[in-house]
Amino acid sequence: MKEIKLETKSQNTWCPGCPNFLLLESVKIALRNIIYKGTKQEDIVMVSGIGCHAKIFDYLNISGIYSLHGRVLPTCFGIKVGNPNLVVLGFGGDGDTYAEGISHFIHACRYNANMTMIVHDNRAFALTTGQATPTTEQGSKVKSEPLGVFPIPINPIKLALSLRASFVARAYARDIKGTAEIIEKALEHNGFSFVDVLQPCLTFRNQDISFIEKKIYKLNKHDVSDINAAMSKADEWDYNFRQEKIPLGIFYVEKRKTIEEKWPQLKLLKKKKIGWWQVKR
Ligand code: SF4
Repeated sequence: MKEIKLETKSQNTWCPGCPNFLLLESVKIALRNIIYKGTKQEDIVMVSGIGCHAKIFDYLNISGIYSLHGRVLPTCFGIKVGNPNLVVLGFGGDGDTYAEGISHFIHACRYNANMTMIVHDNRAFALTTGQATPTTEQGSKVKSEPLGVFPIPINPIKLALSLRASFVARAYARDIKGTAEIIEKALEHNGFSFVDVLQPCLTFRNQDISFIEKKIYKLNKHDVSDINAAMSKADEWDYNFRQEKIPLGIFYVEKRKTIEEKWPQLKLLKKKKIGWWQVKR
């Protein structure tokens, strides 16, 4: 069997023990599996934003673009428009995606391009020393908000469901196998797939590990085609520190036409298996 080389020679500068290492392993497992099943490694493209998560760009032997803060999804979409035959995988942080990039997230759910977004959700702007993001719990005292975070956190699962994202999931980075399985399914989903990965920051939010590990459970006997059931499961945790349960797994899957299947120019590129620059004029 042909060796699949996903490692790079870049020196890893994540803090020792950071769950990003484990998430990277899950991504590699999922990528290896889809490559074994027939996807060409050279047909996979990744995009990262800015933040601790974004260093994954240096540690994965996949082509792509190290993009701007909050601009992962429009970059992914641009790649899809250029060549809808590629497998496009975006990595963003919670600040990156749910603060700067929130409008792009909303429209990515609506457009339903066939691409995957993985959010490394550590509930902090960790690269810039732990300021609050939209998923930081209320009351948290951080350098940027010494009196405690005032706004209600965004529940990204509920937000994605309300926008009818066609694949919505939550994973936990310290569960390598479970995260890899979800990412593989997300990559194989035909449409916009979104995975919010809880990835506690050891340096600035160490308290998240014990809280999350006491509360998580895996969705079981859950009907992923039922939007109301998905909403009800998403309601079990509002990203504050008080609720009893944090469900992990796939909340919702919907078969819906992608933009590539609707847009005539993209349909043509898909049919001919070419990028726009190869179109004869
Ligand atoms: Fe990981 Fe936090 Fe260190 Fe960033 S600051 S590498 S998220 S432990």
